Amino acid sequence: MLTHHDSAPTAQTRTSGSEAIVIGAGLGGLAAAMRLGAKGYRVTVIDRLDMPGGRGSSVTQGGHRFDLGPTIVTVPHLFRELWAACGRDFDADVDLRALENFYEIHWQDGSVFTARQSTDAMRAEVARLSPSDLPGYERFLKDSERRYWFGFENLGRRPMHKFADLVKALPGFVAMRADRSVYGHAASRVKDERLRFALSFHPLFIGGDPFHVTSMYILVSHLEKEFGVHYAMGGVAAIALAMAGVIASQGGQLRLNVEADEVLLENGRATGVRLADGQVLYADLVVSNADAGHTYDHLMRNHPRKRWTPPRLKRTRWSMGLFVWYFGTRGTALKWPKVGHHTIVVGPRYRDHIADIFVKGRLADDMSLYVHRPSVTDKGCAPVGGDTFYALSPVPHLGFDNGVDWAEQAEPYRAKVQKVLEDRLLPGLGDHLTEQLVYTPNTFESRYLSPYGTGFSIEPRILQSAWFRPHNVSEEAKGLYLVGAGTHPGAGLPGVISSAEVLGKLVPDAPRRAPLRMAAE
Ligand SMILES: Cc1cc2nc3c(=O)[nH]c(=O)nc-3n(C[C@H](O)[C@H](O)[C@H](O)COP(=O)(O)OP(=O)(O)OC[C@H]3O[C@@H](n4cnc5c(N)ncnc54)[C@H](O)[C@@H]3O)c2cc1C
Repeated sequence: MLTHHDSAPTAQTRTSGSEAIVIGAGLGGLAAAMRLGAKGYRVTVIDRLDMPGGRGSSVTQGGHRFDLGPTIVTVPHLFRELWAACGRDFDADVDLRALENFYEIHWQDGSVFTARQSTDAMRAEVARLSPSDLPGYERFLKDSERRYWFGFENLGRRPMHKFADLVKALPGFVAMRADRSVYGHAASRVKDERLRFALSFHPLFIGGDPFHVTSMYILVSHLEKEFGVHYAMGGVAAIALAMAGVIASQGGQLRLNVEADEVLLENGRATGVRLADGQVLYADLVVSNADAGHTYDHLMRNHPRKRWTPPRLKRTRWSMGLFVWYFGTRGTALKWPKVGHHTIVVGPRYRDHIADIFVKGRLADDMSLYVHRPSVTDKGCAPVGGDTFYALSPVPHLGFDNGVDWAEQAEPYRAKVQKVLEDRLLPGLGDHLTEQLVYTPNTFESRYLSPYGTGFSIEPRILQSAWFRPHNVSEEAKGLYLVGAGTHPGAGLPGVISSAEVLGKLVPDAPRRAPLRMAAE
């Protein structure tokens, strides 16, 4: 990578023709770097954090490893294919464990639903809650499979930046009632409100309001059934580290604690990146894995934009924010024996609570929680005899006028989360707490430069999906590409890994193999 402080050499002389910069070492950025490395580019990945993985990184405190973000790995073949494209074996680098019980859902009336891979076991769970809904559940599964083939395999893994691609996909959208919401679709198949929840909450894991995101996302039920739910030993951070290892083996470079301040353009073409310290890195192509909003609003602020202008970004519907309480406990390894790796504690309201979060921007007193207890599967994440947890509550993002003052609200809200956990799942929790850490939307804004502090970037509503999302090949500059949650196909590990696969289909092989990097570079 050529760096420069003063007057620039000409475009022809300053790069080899095969230099690529990736801004951001989130899972999407790392996957992009691997794809480009496999195509012969000499890749430099920069990230402002001190570790790779972005939201998928971890923090260790008092012997507890807190997986900060993603915990559920679905569709593992996406990782295996990515590794194979680089001539490597994923399973040699990452210890992925399939979970027998995917997750448990606990309602206030004391009923529990355990999601599993076996269709028979799932049928039994449905029949236990509402026998008359069994035929509707069977239909839902078929609906889910159809949408998987159309929405995931067909649309999600290929470029969608041409309007013609959208036009071709329209009949499929119409036939599959993409206008209907995920909840609407579940409600058309089953009557029991608990089952409607169990079949419709999944969009929350990618930042979508189940009452508004397109029913194409019911495909998640098929993904889980077909490919299982997995955990990476060492957390998703272990996958990120393994990705960094592949990049290094390709001759790529990962530069941490380095922040990009601007994408540089010459005659409408990206030529490099100016860093926050003023240094300039030149490249033949630039990939941004920073949030698509941050990319256009900040990194491209000095260049006129046709589509992703500030007013357009302001009009965009953003995913929700997240309140995450990470906590460690001692003397609990034999306590709460029924609490497994993934639990959902459902609050008293569903539709109205979701409207508070996504529409009204109101921080409600009641909450539904996702509880992560990785120490059930991965003993190494907690000191002997202890446990590591996080409890996640979806909350409004920071863009509402009646915004929440998290500096004031964080501790009272955390105390409410603790109370819900003590009442519903982990009695006596307060006596066992050791380490803790709280992330609010303010943390997401400052740590990941996430617009409005969202957990998942742009919300996946129908008119913000596929062609409507910021394209993987930028609409605003030649030689600039986008990967990650805010672009096509969207958030979640399968989404961001697929965005890099799409990038691989858009970028030609490097014109010539990049020269090996010198140790001093
Ligand atoms: C709490 C939580 C739980 C989740 N659970 C799941 C789950 O169980 N399963 C699942 O599949 N998905 C889950 N997700 C979603 C998934 O984690 C994300 O969608 C995905 O990891 C986002 O990856 P990304 O490539 O978009 O990059 P990000 O992880 O957002 O990383 C972007 C990187 O870019 C860097 N960056 C930004 N701007 C700059 C700049 N100017 N200069 C340098 N670096 C910059 C940031 O520091 C960051 O490291 C979860 C997310 C969260 C937050």
